[in-house]
Amino acid sequence: MATKGNISIHAQNIMPVIKRWLYSDKDIFIRELVSNGCDAITKYKMLKGDTGEDLRVTVTVDKDNRTLTFTDNGIGMTAEEVDKYINQVAFSSAEEFLKNYTGEEKGGIIGHFGLGFYSAFMAAEKVTIDTLSWQEGAEPVLWQSEDGMAFTMEQGSRTQRGTTIVLHVSEEEKEFCETFRVREVLERYCGFMATPIYLVDVNKEEKHEEGCDCEECHDHEEKPVNDVNPLWLKNPRECTEEEYKDTYKKVFHTFEEPLFWVHLNVDYPFNLKGILYFPRIRKDFGGQEGQIKLFNRQVFVADNIKEVIPEFLMLLKGVLDCPDLPLNVSRSFLQNDGYVKKLSAHITKKVADKLNGLFNTERKQYETYWDDIHPFVKYGCIRDKKFYDMVKPSILYKTTEGEYLTLDEYKARNEGKADKKVFYTTEQNRQAAAVSLYTQKGMDVAVMDTLIDMNFMSFMEFGGDMNETRFVRVDADVSGLTEDSEEGKDIDLSLLEKLFKEALSDDTLTVKMEALADHDLPLLLTEDEQMRRYKEMSAMYGQGMDFPAQYTLILNRLCPTIRSLAAMENEETAHLICRQLFDIARLSSRPLEAKELQDFLARSHQLLSLLADKA
Ligand code: ADP
Ligand code: MG
Repeated sequence: MATKGNISIHAQNIMPVIKRWLYSDKDIFIRELVSNGCDAITKYKMLKGDTGEDLRVTVTVDKDNRTLTFTDNGIGMTAEEVDKYINQVAFSSAEEFLKNYTGEEKGGIIGHFGLGFYSAFMAAEKVTIDTLSWQEGAEPVLWQSEDGMAFTMEQGSRTQRGTTIVLHVSEEEKEFCETFRVREVLERYCGFMATPIYLVDVNKEEKHEEGCDCEECHDHEEKPVNDVNPLWLKNPRECTEEEYKDTYKKVFHTFEEPLFWVHLNVDYPFNLKGILYFPRIRKDFGGQEGQIKLFNRQVFVADNIKEVIPEFLMLLKGVLDCPDLPLNVSRSFLQNDGYVKKLSAHITKKVADKLNGLFNTERKQYETYWDDIHPFVKYGCIRDKKFYDMVKPSILYKTTEGEYLTLDEYKARNEGKADKKVFYTTEQNRQAAAVSLYTQKGMDVAVMDTLIDMNFMSFMEFGGDMNETRFVRVDADVSGLTEDSEEGKDIDLSLLEKLFKEALSDDTLTVKMEALADHDLPLLLTEDEQMRRYKEMSAMYGQGMDFPAQYTLILNRLCPTIRSLAAMENEETAHLICRQLFDIARLSSRPLEAKELQDFLARSHQLLSLLADKA
């Protein structure tokens, strides 16, 4: 005798709403049905122990008949259980799901967990459950529904323990009858589930006889789509370097190798398993995005859940399995969840420990990683002061000579010359003249040439290392670089100042004279550090305020050119030389603009012809 019934009086309202909400994420129904099959098998194993049976979930695609079938040989269900778990409970969980959704934007719930079996109706116009319980004397049950609202239940004909769920896929969702599409979804969500999952294409089976030797069949030898023992669940002591690298390549579909990794393996006081990989980041980390895959008991939930993972770790790649993470909740709930806070604090600490460990025990190796990882480390420091406090001793500064120094090492080596200052260059080649003034004095110059460096230096000055460190670009100031020399003191600065002001038609120019160690360097343009940064920042944030250049022209009284200039009689030639010198100096802070460059080139030719005349 068949029973008929309606699942819930609210169902009529709920189903369309759910369908609409899950539209962009509708492939999760595959995850839900496969994980139900896996759960049924896990329960069976718990009841029976290892029986040596081949327990598996099979997903069968039949494009011709437009069906998608999920079969498992788990515990199955009795009629009472179908009634209890499918007819009654299931929809209350859908209601629960809906409740959590209220007020949340689309996509507000991570991975859309909680809808379970009923998600099948997102793709199907009819669903049947054909099940036989493991219990002695149980009768098979056949349950059918066309809309997830009204159902019929009758005695089935099944003789094998387990459950088969058939989805008669609707015309609009027929993509789910394409093997490649189903495989893609299985790999994404079910790639590491604990029970072997097989994908079968019925139409293909018909085309090819068993034992067929063609290429197509060879490529798809019967093997599960998933890896039931993901590496991150193993004991770190039992994992080899090769295995870590293989997992990385497999999970992230890359041939590249990671630099190093952190294996997270915690049972207490909370449960967390995972591997975080440090990829090669390279200089331009602006567009770089890592990928952290979040799992819940081996079921994939979603990528890059920023509510769970400290933001700066998003530059890393990895997998996290957090079995206790509440998933039927909104993202905003997660942000304030105590468990999540502990989790992310733990991850941050582990990452810092790893960096410090490498620094302390494999310094040379660590230095080779630095170019790749420094944007990550610096970004992490800026975002999270606690992280900075932990990794502080392992932050390196690369010098123009290619050495890697810690801040303390830098300060120790430049003691007496640098006084809490770190001299840096943002463009080693362009600023070579200024850099060499420092290196000639035996001082170290740090290379700070990435996007993150500007922010990192501000962070250090105003947050991290308050009052202890100042960063000064090599062309900001020449005090401390001058020589103690009497030479050139007789040169008339006011005359030269007048000359330059006239030549450049700039009355506001500040001109100074110093004794610079590099005798071949006639002059240098300096720009106040704070002023320059202010200008750069405002340009970066597009405020478009036009700050006047606040250059100071430093003339080198030790350079013969300057002496000659002061003594020059032909004013026209002197002006020519002033302008040329100014442009050359300016070139080491920025490229010349179109008109400037034109003038520069024309003047160069003019000067050469003067030289040629003399020769
Ligand atoms: P959940 O898995 O979160 O409990 P579902 O809606 O996915 O919610 O499933 C509801 C219940 O139906 C399950 O808890 C289980 O008791 C039963 N069930 C669903 N699919 C199967 C299956 N393949 N084998 C045995 N029982 C199942
Ligand atoms: Mg389920």
